[in-house]
Amino acid sequence: MTTLHNQHVILTGASSGIGEATALALAERGARVSACARRTDRLRSLAARAQTLPGAVLPLGCDVADAASVRAMAERARAAFGPVDALINNAGVMPLSFMDKCHEQEWLSTVEVNVQGVLRCLAAVIPEMVARRRGHIVNVSSVAGRRVFPGAAVYCGTKAFVHAMSEGLRSEMVKHNVRVTIIAPGLVRTELQSHTTDPDIVERMRSRPPMRWLEAADIAREIVTVLERPDHVCVNEMLIRPTDQEN
Ligand code: NDP
Repeated sequence: MTTLHNQHVILTGASSGIGEATALALAERGARVSACARRTDRLRSLAARAQTLPGAVLPLGCDVADAASVRAMAERARAAFGPVDALINNAGVMPLSFMDKCHEQEWLSTVEVNVQGVLRCLAAVIPEMVARRRGHIVNVSSVAGRRVFPGAAVYCGTKAFVHAMSEGLRSEMVKHNVRVTIIAPGLVRTELQSHTTDPDIVERMRSRPPMRWLEAADIAREIVTVLERPDHVCVNEMLIRPTDQEN
């Protein structure tokens, strides 16, 4: 039995990429995963694939941009699997563009998901974790939370928020025995790059020199490792780049 056996983990952004790989990695370790996203067809197929694994994956439709949807998701998750042992705030969007294009709707929707979505999910679990004096919150940020790249000002801003807020949260949660970890990946081969439609950025991405990217499973493995650390060990932040990534 691993430390994740029977643990209830709420995981957002589970329908693709890092979230999908993490759901499977957690279920392999025996965890019960409340897997959230808007594309419920993807979540159902994920749950079907997890059926042979020791844990379980429950597909839960949820839009983190909608407070009522997040509250309903948390209620359904608890009804199925009981109190929440860990939250992985992974849902995110990255529609990149240069600021002079004024893609205002994209700016606002990026903040809505990457900042407000993270906060809504925190509000859904913190009171219970504090009351139980146990819990682990993993916030998926990015190298973009530590560095600012042209064409990614708003995205970097949202991830810098995740970094700063998570460190404040971590220090406040110490007295409640709740752990907080930032996972900050570099380039990972997922659908995230397809969120960008701005032709200037798409061209920049296309002309990037070839390199070995991380795979979603590389990040999933690290998330599982962090969750499985003994209760007195809190990995505060993990920055994981591909070996070939310079910046
Ligand atoms: P994907 O695009 O593959 O996954 C994003 C996930 O977020 C999807 O499951 C999507 O589900 C979910 N999501 C988006 N909007 C919402 C919403 N409103 N409500 C609920 N879920 C939502 O990309 P990644 O796996 O790469 O991204 C996961 C996280 O990793 C993000 O936070 C991203 O910023 C971060 N990251 C990724 C890097 C990379 O290079 N790939 C590098 C650094 C950080 P659905 O559309 O079904 O709702």
